[in-house]
Amino acid sequence: MEQLLSMNLAELTDWLKAQGCPAFRGKQLYEWLMRGASFEEMTNLPKDFRAKLAEIATANPVRIRDAFTSKLDGTEKYLYELEDGNLIEGVLMRYHHGNTLCLSTQIGCRMGCAFCASTLEGCVRSLTPAEMLGQIIAVNRRLNGEGRVGNVVLMGSGEPLDNYDNVMKFLRLMSDEKGLNMSLRGVSLSTCGLVPNMYRLAEEGLPVTLSLSLHAPNDEIRRKLMPVAKAYPIEDVLAACRNYVEKTGRRVIFEYALVGDMNCEMAHADELAHRLRGLQCHVNLIPLNEVKERDALKAPTAAQVERFMKRLEQRHISVTRRREMGDDIQGACGQLRRHTLMEENGEWGMGNGE
Ligand code: SAH
Repeated sequence: MEQLLSMNLAELTDWLKAQGCPAFRGKQLYEWLMRGASFEEMTNLPKDFRAKLAEIATANPVRIRDAFTSKLDGTEKYLYELEDGNLIEGVLMRYHHGNTLCLSTQIGCRMGCAFCASTLEGCVRSLTPAEMLGQIIAVNRRLNGEGRVGNVVLMGSGEPLDNYDNVMKFLRLMSDEKGLNMSLRGVSLSTCGLVPNMYRLAEEGLPVTLSLSLHAPNDEIRRKLMPVAKAYPIEDVLAACRNYVEKTGRRVIFEYALVGDMNCEMAHADELAHRLRGLQCHVNLIPLNEVKERDALKAPTAAQVERFMKRLEQRHISVTRRREMGDDIQGACGQLRRHTLMEENGEWGMGNGE
């Protein structure tokens, strides 16, 4: 089946021609696709044309299978089903300045970070551009006019720079002025630090914010948490960040998950501040979200988070603590998909999924 959402208008029109369909239908079809319509709903297109399309193509390969709304802050968590039955998840965060959707770029992940739930069973496959765009379109449709997805963070499951070409195509599709016409300034691409592709990204001419998952002030600690640190030393990662700032003029965001007894000492804050000196950046502290299967890793105490943050401020590092949203709906990090898969396989008793 051809995934029509992977094409821009010109590509869709060419594809229609190649199928022997009238090319002038391209624009109408494209507009319907951007709204998340099914072929049946495209009522201003001839019936036989729609029937033919339905045989060979899909309108949106992403379907919202379940949705949970947080009573605390209105955050919505989605479980999506793809055409091949695979499940991915997403989170819609509602801020005063608009809606931010957290997108997945792969089914699972192969980076193996020690604290992360998405990587526990490895990577099933990468998502297509249509499957990334389709997440936005499915959520816009669900919002049904009451707001739209404005900002996008590539912080769901998967490593975006491990699915480089599809992610670049997706970014160009979402910002296409004939399509969703979204601003890439509202996109944060989060990476564990695949250095060669960080340099490539800096050359793409796309004004996205680079978020770098640092999580440690030095290689010794970083290697304990992130296998990727064995391939790319922290100084190489930071050099790639400096290059990104130089090439794009945009500051880099460092994500730092605070893990109790691992990386929250004052000495770690000092070392981090020292390393980041002179780099145009912002540090986002994330108290570890404990993952059941990773029970050796513990969240820090509130006091530890406070002290770490203060210390960085004293060292003139711009820093915030990430707000925890949707705490009552498994808002975080690949845990919903996992719970659902386990329940379906009978490995997980009901009512146990906290
Ligand atoms: N592969 C990308 C995107 C992953 S998820 C990356 O590595 O950046 C987005 C962020 O959530 C990353 O910084 C990731 O390290 C972090 N994260 C994953 N699991 C977490 C957990 N259990 N607690 C806190 N942060 C976590």
